[in-house]
Parts: sequence; C-alpha cells; structure tokens
Amino acid sequence: MAQGVRHICGGCGHAIEAWSDGNPYYIDKAGDKQYAYHPDHELLAKCIGNDSPHLCLSCGFEFMVDSNDPVANCPKCKTGEIACTYDLDNKQCPFCKEGVFNIDPDLFAIS
Ligand SMILES: [Zn+2]
Ligand SMILES: [Zn+2]
Repeated sequence: MAQGVRHICGGCGHAIEAWSDGNPYYIDKAGDKQYAYHPDHELLAKCIGNDSPHLCLSCGFEFMVDSNDPVANCPKCKTGEIACTYDLDNKQCPFCKEGVFNIDPDLFAIS
C-alpha cells in the first residue's frame, strides 16, 4: 500500500509529488537495474533495494537516493541540506527561498 502526497510551497506555489515507498528495484538477468511498479507483486518480491527521490533544499536539485548506496549530500552543490520528497512538510522552499512546503489537502492518493 503506497500513499501519495503533494507538497506545495506557500511562497511560489512550486509543487512536488511523492510516494511513500519510493521506487523499489531489482536487478535483472543482464545485471541492469529495473524498477518494479505497483501492483506487480511478483516483481516487488524480487526487489533488493529502493531509490527514493530527494530534493536539495539549497539548490532545488532533485535526485534519487539508492537505499544500497545512500548519499548524505546533494550531488550538484554538495550541501547536506537534502530531504526526502515525501517529507518536505515545513521545509524551506529552495526555489523562492521564502515559502515553506505544506501538504496539499486536495491530493491524497492511495494505490
Ligand atoms: Zn517557493
Ligand atoms: Zn544542491
């Protein structure tokens, strides 16, 4: 069961959507990373890791963090001010540097 949320900046209106369980992946026979999408439970059972989308709170760069190879800094500007896009509530918006993100009550999806 995955929950979707949308965070909206109160200053500039920038919106970011996220799913609670990120992007589970498995390695196929060729050794390539493949994402398993809901509701393919057979593929989900093979998953060995998870890429979760993160946002740099300094430069606004969005990137994936691999659960098997986690990073603590933004790959672009090297700051440690990064946050999971599912957990942006009350975080300062990096795009306008004025507003903070709040959960959009109009979007609440469950897949
Ligand atoms: Zn903003
Ligand atoms: Zn950055």
